[in-house]
Order: sequence, then C-alpha cells, then structure tokens
Amino acid sequence: MTPAASANLPQLAHRARSVGASPVREILALTARPEVISFAGGLPAPELFDAEGLRHAYDRVLSERPGSVLQYSTTEGDPLLRRAVAARLSARALPTAPEDLLITGGSQQGLTLIASTLLEPGDTVLVENPTYLAALQCFGFAGARVVPVPTDDDGVLPEALADLVARERPKLLYLVPNFQNPTGRTLPLSRRRAVAEVAARYGLWIAEDDPYGELRFEGEYQPPVAAMEGAADRTVLMGSFSKVMAPGMRLGWVRAPEGLRRACVIAKQAADLHTSTVDQAAAARYLADRDLDAHLERVRAAYRERRDALLGGLPAALPPGSTWSRPEGGMFVWVRLPDGHDATALLPAAVGHDVAYVPGAPFYAADADHATLRMSFTTHTPEEITTGLSRLAKVF
Ligand code: PMP
Repeated sequence: MTPAASANLPQLAHRARSVGASPVREILALTARPEVISFAGGLPAPELFDAEGLRHAYDRVLSERPGSVLQYSTTEGDPLLRRAVAARLSARALPTAPEDLLITGGSQQGLTLIASTLLEPGDTVLVENPTYLAALQCFGFAGARVVPVPTDDDGVLPEALADLVARERPKLLYLVPNFQNPTGRTLPLSRRRAVAEVAARYGLWIAEDDPYGELRFEGEYQPPVAAMEGAADRTVLMGSFSKVMAPGMRLGWVRAPEGLRRACVIAKQAADLHTSTVDQAAAARYLADRDLDAHLERVRAAYRERRDALLGGLPAALPPGSTWSRPEGGMFVWVRLPDGHDATALLPAAVGHDVAYVPGAPFYAADADHATLRMSFTTHTPEEITTGLSRLAKVF
C-alpha cells in the first residue's frame, strides 16, 4: 500500500493504537534458530502430544459422521464435549452441568468474551502483579483501567485486596490461581476462601483463569475459587485443552453463572458463530475413547523431571543473591536477579550465547521489577536444560 493511500484513511480505533506490540517479541523472534535453547516460550512439549490418539479421534468422527462434523454447529458447543468437561469438573469438587459451559476458541477467547460482556471503557479490573501478558492486552483492548493487587510468594494478599476493592470499586478481579503465568505460584486454599469472601462482600466479579491446573506434579490439589463459599454466583472459570491435549486445536471453555454465560454466547456469536465443529467432535471422541488421565500422567512426569533439572541448575547459573519460585506444577519458574540487574538489557547477550528467557517487566500492570524474568521448563530435555543454564551462567 502506498503512504498516500494510507494517509487518506481514517485512523485505527483508539484501543488498537494504544495496545502496542512488544519490543521483546522482536528480540525473541531471533530465538527460532535451532541452536538456541529457549526458556522463553510458553509452549507444551510437542513430542508429548498424543498425535496418534488424536489422529484416530479425527479419523473416527470424519468417517462416521462427516456431514455433521463438517457442518456449522451451535454457539454453546458440542454437547458431548460439554458433558465430558462437566464430568471432569464435577469429579474435582465443582459440581457442573453441561449447560453451565460454553466451549470457546481456547481460554483466550473466554477472556475476550468476559471483557466484552462485563467491561465499559474506564471500568477498573484488578490483577495479580505480575500477571498473564495477554490478559493485560485483552483488558487494555476493552479500555479498562488495570490496577495491580499486592502479592507475595503465595499470590494475592487478601487484606490488601479488601483495601483496594473498598478504594477502587473494581468490577472484576482476574486471577490465575494455579501455577500462575508468569510466576508459577499457586494460591493456597485459605486465600481462595478469603478472596471469595472479599468479592462477595464488595460485590465484584472474579475471572478465574485455569489453563495449568491439571499439570500438578506434586503437592495437594486445590479446589477452584469458583467452589468457595460466596463465589458461585460471581465467578467465571476458564479452562483449556491447550496444555492437556494440544493448543493447535484451540479449544477451551467458560463456566459462568447463567446471565453472564448467556451474554457470552451472544458475544461469541458475533465474534465467530462457534468453535470449530470438527475439532470439538474429535476432542469429545478422544475423551470417550482414550484415557486422558493416563496421558496426563506421562506429561506431568516429563515436566516434573524438566522442572527439577531447571531448579537443580539455577543456583550455579544465576548470580549470588538471585531468588526463584519453586512451582508444584505448570510450566514456569520466576526468577529475580539481584538488585541492579536488568533482565531486558541482558537478553540480547543471552540470545548471542544461544539461550533465551522472557524478561519479567512486561508482565507487570504497574511498578515493573526489571530484575525479574520467566523461564519455561517444558520444551527441552533435562540435558538441554543443563546446557542452556551453563550458557546463561556466562551471560550473568
Ligand atoms: N491464560 C493463561 C494464564 C495462559 O498462560 C494462556 C496461554 N499460555 C491462556 C490463558 C490462553 O490459552 P489458550 O487460549 O490456548 O487456552
């Protein structure tokens, strides 16, 4: 397109101009070289996808009922898939009917639907600090005012949350309670109860984003915030098949109170009519024919070994005085270098040594700590992780 043509056009919408691309993304684009050992990605390990089981599921639905699985379908989603998700949730202390669920294009779409059905420009959303980057983008696109809640190593501090809610009158609290992206932290049960109590007392919505909950490899299962007293009528729980099946299928779900769920259905209709019929049917077939829990056991065992390789090598790789999280599941370890270190400034040197991580600063809604960084342990073998850490040691 010529510049003259674009100069003669109305501007992009304010929200499209105000949510920028990240410069870190450009540096990380350089890490696609095969020799780079990247701790930067947030990807599940591709060699652990059950490709054979999924191929079989797609084969079956395409050969048994091609006319329906290649056809348009309902916005709410495949009834068999909703039934299977409801059964998994009900078995985990959260009684759920298939009708409580809306199937989405990944949990990311759940976030977009919630933002577009709940938020007016200028509404306040509370988030953990740091939090999931694409949630910040999503709330930014909705024109929301994003305010961070003070946290410690166990997640949000309930007393600080109560003070902030009384002062800021937010509409929504966004939480990733299990193995949070980026910190790997998990919110303990007592805080889940306290958060639900604050939300009920002051009347706000909770968006509980849980793509990693099924990746626990040690410690005790924590019931969702949605299951806490006072939370049922105000919590939207989002789940995903990305980390348990395959992210390329783009399947997730939203479990929401009726009024909000209906609004999300209408918003989804406007966005994409429905999630891919064939992918939903294949996922439902897979859940009926295969043992997802047995598959997850293999994934968890591999991730645990990789986490241990990372945690085991960090003391020798990082400068003295560094600290890091010790996640009981999920995909991420959060590192803080000693005061004075800037993880963004160090990244080009790391990439020069064929190793990468994500600087922590962009994950903060405010008051970014530039000494932080996120490391994913999922996509490399323990040996590669050890090699990557020895490269990092040279950089630091
Ligand atoms: N929420 C969080 C906290 C995530 O880390 C991610 C993906 N990395 C998502 C939502 C989106 O996942 P998906 O759309 O693949 O389900």
